[in-house]
Amino acid sequence: MGKALIVQKFGGSSVANVERIQNVARRVTGYRKKGYDLVVVVSALGDTTDELIELADKINPEPSEREMDMLLSTGEQISVALLAMAIHKLGYEAISFTGLQVGIITDTSHTRARIVKIDTKKISDELKKGKIVIVAGFQGTTPDQHITTLGRGGSDLTAVALAKELKADQCEIYTDVEGIYSTDPRIEPKAGKIDAITYDEMLEMASLGAQVMQARSIEVAKKFDVPIHVRSSLSEKPGTMIVREVKRMEEVVVNAITLNKNESKITVCDVPDKPGVAAKIFKNLASGGVNVDMIVQNVSHTRKTDISFTIQKAELAKTMRLVRKAAAKVGAGEVVEDADIARVSIVGVGMKSHSGVAATMFETLARKKINIEMISTSDISISCIIKKNKVESAVRALHGKFGLNK
Ligand code: ADP
Ligand code: ASP
Ligand code: MG
Repeated sequence: MGKALIVQKFGGSSVANVERIQNVARRVTGYRKKGYDLVVVVSALGDTTDELIELADKINPEPSEREMDMLLSTGEQISVALLAMAIHKLGYEAISFTGLQVGIITDTSHTRARIVKIDTKKISDELKKGKIVIVAGFQGTTPDQHITTLGRGGSDLTAVALAKELKADQCEIYTDVEGIYSTDPRIEPKAGKIDAITYDEMLEMASLGAQVMQARSIEVAKKFDVPIHVRSSLSEKPGTMIVREVKRMEEVVVNAITLNKNESKITVCDVPDKPGVAAKIFKNLASGGVNVDMIVQNVSHTRKTDISFTIQKAELAKTMRLVRKAAAKVGAGEVVEDADIARVSIVGVGMKSHSGVAATMFETLARKKINIEMISTSDISISCIIKKNKVESAVRALHGKFGLNK
């Protein structure tokens, strides 16, 4: 056995082509040479998962979730095999496994399965033989061997869960940026890299749309105290540590701005304003497995009211079908969809002890002539739904206003 165990996860952009796969193989074997044991989790090459989703959509816009998992899990099976070959080429021993082979057991919620347990025996056996173990990210199996996936970005979760179960000394998430930034560095080049961030802040950022880490992976890291190092697969520089507590000289009010373009808004018009109606509509959605986010009910003047809410864009077709059914049952009017929206949010634990933060956010958007369609708040964040084509300029304006430009 080596001197310490590192779990390393490489995202899709880090294995997007032959050169990048060879780059990962060099990095991994570099650590092996230094004497570390390595478990490597890999995502599908580049945009493979998106392409597979598009392909399925052309065949059937509401595909069976079980078959969707059969399809999407193939992406990661390609990358683990190719990475193993690249490592062999460098003269090192490595073996690749799917989630099923390695014993990542999940519940039966296809496309968003939860890990129930991981049987680490196979991995430990191979590590003892001196091999680099490569595990397909994002996938698992039900106890009776139906393949499941862990939700978009789920390779992060595979890595964190393996780091926990194997009691790894380090968990590194390699991506195409140098760490966690004050906002998406592709949208605001003035964004600054954050040296260390708490689980709570990262979880809030991830839930609000910062795709750099999957939200559920942070929940698991927080629950079991797994420190995560997010860094670039193309540089040696240290990235961002995600940990329980961060000591800052002075608490800043807002640490980060996030945006999310993956939501859609649905409005149910002329809903009868009486007890039990909203319950009926949302119960229908819940039993259909739809995750509803922001909800706004307008004031009624005529005994009828409009209810708007947001959902994941990927669930739009299914949700519209369910809502139309429910709306007809309760005697509501038209159901209108709006995919042309985006969410912009500000995040920071310092918000808890400061007032006027919301006002500053709304003023900043107003000055940019951006209309706010919906608002929601938590302890450490404020979100606004706005028109999609305004979201980049909203991010930049807020980033500057809250003193984050570097
Ligand atoms: P991977 O393929 O490695 O999983 P992702 O595409 O899932 O990578 O996540 C990395 C991307 O997340 C970056 O390229 C960046 O554009 C985006 N991103 C969004 N918000 C942030 C942020 N606050 N800090 C860093 N990256 C961010
Ligand atoms: N390939 C999967 C996705 O694109 C999982 C991952 O990249 O983490 O969502
Ligand atoms: Mg990712």
